[in-house]
Amino acid sequence: MAQEAAPTLDFDPDALREKYRIERDKRLRADGNNQYLEVTDGFAHYLDDPYVSPIRREPCTDEVEVAVIGGGHGGLLIGAKLRKAGVESIRYIEKGGDFGGTWYWNRYPGAACDTEAYIYMPLLEETGYVPTEKYAKAPEILAHCQRIGKHFDLYRDALFQTQITELRWDEAKAAWNVRTDRGDNFHARFVCMANGPLNRPKLPGVPGIESFKGHSFHTSRWDYAYTGGDSYGNMTGLADKRVAVIGTGATAIQCVPHLGASAGELYVFQRTPSSVDVRANRPTEADWAQSLQPGWQRHRQENFSTLTSGGYAEEDLVSDGWTEIIGKLLRGRIGGDALGGFGGTPDPEAAGRVIEMADYEKMNQIRARCDATVHDRATADALKPWYRQFCKRPCFHDEYLLTYNRPNVTLVDTQGRGVERITEKGVVANGVEYEVDCIIYASGFEVGTALERRAGYQVYGEGGLALSEKWRDGVSTLYGMQTRGFPNCFIVGLAQVGASANITHVLEVQSSHISHLIQHAREHEVLTMDVAEEAEAAWVQKVMDASLANINYLESCTPGYYNNEGQPNGALIRRNGTFAPGIMAFSRIVEEWREEGNLAGLEFKRM
Ligand code: NDP
Repeated sequence: MAQEAAPTLDFDPDALREKYRIERDKRLRADGNNQYLEVTDGFAHYLDDPYVSPIRREPCTDEVEVAVIGGGHGGLLIGAKLRKAGVESIRYIEKGGDFGGTWYWNRYPGAACDTEAYIYMPLLEETGYVPTEKYAKAPEILAHCQRIGKHFDLYRDALFQTQITELRWDEAKAAWNVRTDRGDNFHARFVCMANGPLNRPKLPGVPGIESFKGHSFHTSRWDYAYTGGDSYGNMTGLADKRVAVIGTGATAIQCVPHLGASAGELYVFQRTPSSVDVRANRPTEADWAQSLQPGWQRHRQENFSTLTSGGYAEEDLVSDGWTEIIGKLLRGRIGGDALGGFGGTPDPEAAGRVIEMADYEKMNQIRARCDATVHDRATADALKPWYRQFCKRPCFHDEYLLTYNRPNVTLVDTQGRGVERITEKGVVANGVEYEVDCIIYASGFEVGTALERRAGYQVYGEGGLALSEKWRDGVSTLYGMQTRGFPNCFIVGLAQVGASANITHVLEVQSSHISHLIQHAREHEVLTMDVAEEAEAAWVQKVMDASLANINYLESCTPGYYNNEGQPNGALIRRNGTFAPGIMAFSRIVEEWREEGNLAGLEFKRM
């Protein structure tokens, strides 16, 4: 049983709970996700790729064994595992000009991973690479993606600068018909959709956005031709410019320090502050790198995911902000493995109370950091986040708060209202027009919108059923990776899958599962592989049962993409969300299922 210690509190939990409620209510709005502007039509240029010259090529009309959609970490892991298993015919379809996924697009100054590179960068042992620092910077991560592509010979048949327009199951051929915006029209026996959850930029839907006469771009399409410099900063082109940044999420936290150092004047428009904890980056020690034993990366990933899902481990190998927030604080209060992991708490109510107190304590620390770092009192106050730690993505940075001590940097806090308008000359907030030369939208990516809008294509399964139609009332899968009526199709996503603060660990588990199933099909002359109705229903139920505990939490949160912009539809979030017990419990389930050997719950047609 969880035993609640009775620590002396140096804060008033009721007062904090009330303050959080008031701050949330300020930000609730009826339009939820619809507040954002879709980047289409007159705004489509915000999607242009600034990093490559357009290529020309002939369309493909042939047949391949496996089509992998997306060349980010998820797609690369699948390709690597399939190559190791001897699959020759693998074709990537990737809208970027190279491998890298989010690291292809996000080259903004200061971009770096927020989870430790030793567990975040995939396939380190296989490629013989050790990152140069604990939190590797974007160019190093992008180069590693390219390293994986070369090491596993994945460039061979890759279609870059190519966007899927439609996937359609061809019953007669028992294969997927793949169509793209370059006129490709080919077939693939298997498709793996590894598009990533955060790939379509969005803009704030404020009036006048099209009227701005200065320069503007989204952070995921950084215009270095305009700013000068590179991912490491030194943006000399901004020395005489007045620059506005809209948004203060994880992206802004990383690019604002460089903008503050380079821009003539910088205005940061804030609607909700992020929590910004200590980062403490450091170079990799050569002795440590040499001491690593085979299997070290998986062991380290599992150690991290265990601790960050409320479980117990003898040691904390990564020992960073994530394990500190979730692990040490809780264990310090409850002791041992009393939590039993978030999904299987022995006494959820008692554990919930303890977690809430630990959360207040942690957020008090975060708020104290604002006071200790920022000289101007009003600015320090405005930078304090008033919500529970996991309502928004926690951030870690050692220069972000300090940037507000620069004389050329102004925080424009909008008290939860956001910017009001864009004019020909600049940005209006709190009734004041700020004239600027350049607006940088750090306004994030589409998360809660319809699947086909985010992916940019539709998937039609057996009988021409659209996946978005099948999932109209909620996602329905077996282990988050297959869905009935869409044979030989694999999904790499977060819905109905155990999560981790280290997304690469999730992708490792998924890619192992998917490559196992594809290998099984190849070895056993399987023509098609689909999910049995009961098996899918049972998994959906398991996911929903396990996620019960999270709904109250999400409802109490300040709006953001974690809670569908303040409109957490209980049933839908439970169904479309992750498998709450987390990646460790999830990987045990799928591994045991595979070990049983009969792949129960799948239906096969033989060749
Ligand atoms: P987010 O969606 O997290 O942030 C968007 C920001 O725009 C928010 O601060 C939002 O405010 C603000 N905003 C939206 N509309 C307005 C408006 N009208 N006026 C003012 N502000 C507005 O996007 P990010 O790109 O920052 O991050 C997305 C995700 O990408 C992260 O959560 C993380 O998962 C990932 N990421 C990971 C990194 C890493 O690992 N190193 C680095 C960067 C991102 P509000 O909060 O009020 O909605």
